[in-house]
Amino acid sequence: MSGTVVIGGGPAGAAAAILLARAGARVTVVEREAAAREKVCGEFLGPDAAALMASLGLPLPSLGAVPVSRGALAAGSRDAAWALPFAAWSLPRAVMDEALLDAAARAGATVLRGRGAAGAAREGEGWSVRLAGGARLAARSVVLATGKHELRGHARSATRGQIGLKLPLRLAGPMEGTVLLLPFAGGYAGLQPRGGEGAGREANLCAALRAVGSEARDPAALLGRVASGSALAARLLRDAEPLLARPLAVGGVPYGFRHRDGAGAPCGLYRAGDQFAVVPSLAGDGVAMALAGGMAAARAILEGVPSAAFHRALDAELGRPMRWAGAIARLLEAAPGALTLAAGVFPAGARLAAARTRLPSRPRPVAGGREGGAGPVRILARR
Ligand SMILES: Cc1cc2nc3c(=O)[nH]c(=O)nc-3n(C[C@H](O)[C@H](O)[C@H](O)COP(=O)(O)OP(=O)(O)OC[C@H]3O[C@@H](n4cnc5c(N)ncnc54)[C@H](O)[C@@H]3O)c2cc1C
Repeated sequence: MSGTVVIGGGPAGAAAAILLARAGARVTVVEREAAAREKVCGEFLGPDAAALMASLGLPLPSLGAVPVSRGALAAGSRDAAWALPFAAWSLPRAVMDEALLDAAARAGATVLRGRGAAGAAREGEGWSVRLAGGARLAARSVVLATGKHELRGHARSATRGQIGLKLPLRLAGPMEGTVLLLPFAGGYAGLQPRGGEGAGREANLCAALRAVGSEARDPAALLGRVASGSALAARLLRDAEPLLARPLAVGGVPYGFRHRDGAGAPCGLYRAGDQFAVVPSLAGDGVAMALAGGMAAARAILEGVPSAAFHRALDAELGRPMRWAGAIARLLEAAPGALTLAAGVFPAGARLAAARTRLPSRPRPVAGGREGGAGPVRILARR
């Protein structure tokens, strides 16, 4: 019997596996993708994600991340820019997720690639995880970290969802360390320079939309929809060269979802990442929340904290960033012009709002200026 089976090898699952394996626990990660691949994500990584990656021994600059130091917002003929109140980064998800899974394997976790889990059920005192194809893994506990995808029998309770689209681009000019928020009718997009192999030449366009038509298939339609929102977007995207034949898409993203255990919730199944809470994209730090949740789940398992107590503590921790990111996303959609005007007149307000989307128990800088420490420890102290 494996001590823990982690279902899903994204940031939440891989971070949980790294800590469990480093503590000497037996852990198996089941990841349905056989190899690294692009994921629908804006790839904006704030200081919490950077500090958590560093504390796992994976500092973002060493993976090829590029710095992002300014924020900007454009709506109609207006635009505003401000210095971010923290250091931020951009790194392709294929690079980051692969580095995390590799670190989990090096720490001693068994990583099963190209194997999807088809279900997980209580069996005796533990769990039986059924793999696609029929094999079963027995475990004392399970970390459910399948991200945007539901596991049969454990689907999230959210009913409505938005659509996420991602399109890497080659722009005519450099973007110079800026993350741009570009609202348009029915959604908003983020545009920022790409890290990794595309650094210096490529940008990442990622959009959250309430409904899509041809934008999901046709790069030109997506570029046109984003460009319709502001003069700045139209100018920047005019000569953009899409680097994919069609945008990557994910549907049914339940922004604002927060897991609550109902009566009779199964004991020993620890939810982390998007399976626990889904923060509105580009307004909040989904990857940081996933890393923090996965690491906290590992600590809860190692310390024998029941899954229900862990879920309550994680919910308390994520409440503030979820509320602030939700408010920013609503304003981006409902009043982009007023928000752009306000950010132009009062850039300190934009900086404050960005800072409030951070995790409350943030990772602390340690001696020598190196970032590290583990913010999510407080989650367990509160139980
Ligand atoms: C449009 C959009 C833009 C975003 N932009 C940003 C951003 O700029 N910055 C940011 O921090 N966050 C952003 N996010 C949020 C971020 O992508 C997620 O919060 C984060 O990826 C959650 O990590 P996770 O580990 O929970 O899930 P995921 O990253 O989705 O990983 C889940 C993993 O589980 C695997 N899996 C799924 N089902 C199974 C199964 N049955 N068996 C085995 N494996 C399985 C998948 O292959 C995947 O590798 C964005 C999200 C969207 C939709």
